[in-house]
Amino acid sequence: MESPIENDYYQRQASARIPLLRRFFLLTAFLTLIFCGWDRVVDEWAWLSNLAYRGLGSLTLALVSWRLPPRLSALNFDRLVVGFALLYSLYLIFLLGHLNQGLTLGMPCLSVFLTLCCFLVVHSRHSLGLVVVLAAVSWASWRCGLHQLVLYSHLIVLTMSLGCASLLAQVFESAARRQFELEEQLSREARCDSLTGLFNRRALSEILAQEAERSRRYQRPLSILLLDIDFFKRVNDRQGHDVGDEVLRHVAITCQKGLRLSDQLGRWGGEEFVVVLPETAPDEALALAERLRETVAKSECSTRGRQVRVTISVGVTSLETGESWESAYPRLDAALYDAKRAGRNRCVLRGPEGSSLTIQ
Ligand code: GH3
Ligand code: MG
Ligand code: MG
Repeated sequence: MESPIENDYYQRQASARIPLLRRFFLLTAFLTLIFCGWDRVVDEWAWLSNLAYRGLGSLTLALVSWRLPPRLSALNFDRLVVGFALLYSLYLIFLLGHLNQGLTLGMPCLSVFLTLCCFLVVHSRHSLGLVVVLAAVSWASWRCGLHQLVLYSHLIVLTMSLGCASLLAQVFESAARRQFELEEQLSREARCDSLTGLFNRRALSEILAQEAERSRRYQRPLSILLLDIDFFKRVNDRQGHDVGDEVLRHVAITCQKGLRLSDQLGRWGGEEFVVVLPETAPDEALALAERLRETVAKSECSTRGRQVRVTISVGVTSLETGESWESAYPRLDAALYDAKRAGRNRCVLRGPEGSSLTIQ
């Protein structure tokens, strides 16, 4: 069973390889047609009958490459590659079988083709499907009259080249997967606050910009809360920074529990948190802020055998239609300042038109 991050890696690889697969189809179509010259050298009588088959094959391949979907799951991508390897190998044996000594002379082309297919497969495990292709190739070549000794020697070469290609592909795959995992971890860490595990300011700024754009485009409400722990400096001064850190974690967990999945909570900096509330009108945002304030005030943070009581003040605002979050931020800050000035442990809503509403 793959981890979600491995799954993500294979899905991205499958999408990234679709243009490559398209080019591979086109190249194969081109070579299929061009090799009629080779047919002529090998068999100057039978090559003409092959020309029509080659033309038909090239046209089909060009059409398939044009109709490739823009996205495929890793499993479907690999099924497509292995299926293509099987059909094209049989088609090639059919073409070569028409020529005098065609199979004997043309088998190396098949080895090269199948080796390339092995590298195209996204999940090296799925290249096991090429064993079926190998069996089908042996059977078809034997049916087309390839001499047994020649068939055996070709099969040995084919198996060796497929084995080596599969091993190499596995080495590349595990190195690329490791690199992908490291990049994912780095990008997660760059967006995460290490103390609370919440989004950090950088990630919150991105979320705010995205949500503001969505709210502008679809004319939907968007509200923001700015939470600040009251007298937090006192906690640090009297009980130490470790207890202060524990209080920060406690507030983060308590607030997170009270939010919907679509709401995004992050640490804005110090003892300040921001909540982004898509699809939320100002009165609903104020109600939610009040609920969070009350939950935090009623909760107890127990650390080192001590119970620390903590309260928060909350500034609330909503974006006007088409407004950027940056221009709404001073209003949010002012709402929080109002809440502090009014005695802390309360919520203040500042409307876009300068209206203010305090509750506690
Ligand atoms: P107010 O009610 O007006 O918000 O008062 P306050 O004491 O909460 O605010 P002030 O800005 O005076 O103090 C914030 C303190 O938060 C100061 C700083 O040392 C502390 N702080 C900031 N980041 C951290 C942190 O990561 N861990 C701990 N333990 N303290 C932090
Ligand atoms: Mg502060
Ligand atoms: Mg504070």
